[in-house]
Amino acid sequence: MLNIKIKKLIIGTNNKGKLREIRDLLPKNIETYSPKDFNLKSPRENGTTFEENCLIKSKYFSKRSGLICIADDSGLEISILNNRPGIYSARWGGKNSDFKKAIKKVYKELNKKDINWKKKKISARFICALSISYLNKKIAISTGKVSGKISLNPKGKNGFGYDPIFIPNKKKKTFGEMKPSQKFRLDHRYKAFKKIKRFF
Ligand code: IMP
Repeated sequence: MLNIKIKKLIIGTNNKGKLREIRDLLPKNIETYSPKDFNLKSPRENGTTFEENCLIKSKYFSKRSGLICIADDSGLEISILNNRPGIYSARWGGKNSDFKKAIKKVYKELNKKDINWKKKKISARFICALSISYLNKKIAISTGKVSGKISLNPKGKNGFGYDPIFIPNKKKKTFGEMKPSQKFRLDHRYKAFKKIKRFF
């Protein structure tokens, strides 16, 4: 195991919600950069798993910036939709990553699958794979998961992505209704981060 303490890195995402949440996970003394600081667009995610895609991102942004990179690949798996959208979670929002559009698609697919879905518990989970790379080399990778269900309607304006339709187990509120500090300790990103926090 590498015994390093990272002091400076690039957070490999162009998604503002994720950027904020990953920044919040890192100790405050770390100097952080984003792809915008280097005028970098995101790479094509042509992996077949969350792990593969997050390594594509952390290696790409590290090579382009010359800094160590932390990147995640995450998404929502819905059991009765055969775990879709999964790695396609961002892509369900279309070219402009329109989260309202992505949420509409979830409800449309649920209606298509089972018109009575609202009478059932629709199990779902958020998954996050988080990796740290330096140039072409993987330093660490971990995954985290939070299980829950799909809400009957979108609720709340906090967070990003599918937060308004996800209710974690043992809670009544969606992530979208929770304060960032409440979501923070429950979510998939925090759980993945805990496993690699020794690097910071
Ligand atoms: P990607 O990892 O950049 O491919 O995008 C992951 C997508 O999954 C995001 O654009 C969101 O739609 C969704 N997602 C991942 N994590 C979260 C979360 O914490 N809350 C809500 N949506 C999320």
